[in-house]
Amino acid sequence: MTDRKDELAANLAKVEERIAAACAAAGRGRDEVTLIVVTKTYPASDVRILCELGVRHVAENKDQDAAPKAAECSDLPLTWHFVGQLQTNKVRSVVGYADLVQSVDRSKLVTALSKEAVKAGRELGCLIQVALDAGSSERGERGGVAPGGIEELAGLVAGAPGLRLDGLMTVAPLTGEYAGREQAAFERLMDLSTDLRRAHPAANMVSAGMSADLEQAVAAGATHVRVGTAVLGVRPRLG
Ligand SMILES: *Cc1c(COP(=O)(O)O)cnc(C)c1O
Repeated sequence: MTDRKDELAANLAKVEERIAAACAAAGRGRDEVTLIVVTKTYPASDVRILCELGVRHVAENKDQDAAPKAAECSDLPLTWHFVGQLQTNKVRSVVGYADLVQSVDRSKLVTALSKEAVKAGRELGCLIQVALDAGSSERGERGGVAPGGIEELAGLVAGAPGLRLDGLMTVAPLTGEYAGREQAAFERLMDLSTDLRRAHPAANMVSAGMSADLEQAVAAGATHVRVGTAVLGVRPRLG
């Protein structure tokens, strides 16, 4: 194996151990949690190695970085998640490679995603990104809709051609009442998911937890964790 493959294999094994331990501690089956590796800022060659090592879900947060990478890796059996703040002028490109967009947080974006998904003849999975630090009807600083805006947005996604409502996503807030209380934040997301599933039973994805707080996310009931640095290393630049 190459050095990089050894390194990624060792990191993946450690993350796998953490997820397995967190599942065991929570009395959950390991198969209830899906690992998504966030490959942002890292090259397509790393994505290829990760795929060889058994990773099937990858995530990106910037279209300009993701689009060429996804094109280089289009032969691989990967599910691509888009997790970054998304401008409507990037939607056409993103719909070209993403299987799911986890950062749906406003009606204008729903309209644009629907239009391009229909044009591309694709069904695009959508998660509503929830900002737990936003005021009642605001959007969060790092994207996301306040909890009070979920229901309306979910209804729009569910009724939009080409889109499939899959669930909720959040990033643990750095400010507000949940700052430093990751598990409480993720438990709040779970409660919001329970509410959402009353009207949309199939929208059962709960995407929460990153390298630093995946245990708290698994304990709270997350179905998907998004792990970057713990697998790939500290990113060379902000992203
Ligand atoms: C970068 C990123 C992650 C992964 O974060 P790490 O701390 O590197 O594990 C997860 N989710 C989103 C939305 C991200 O932008």
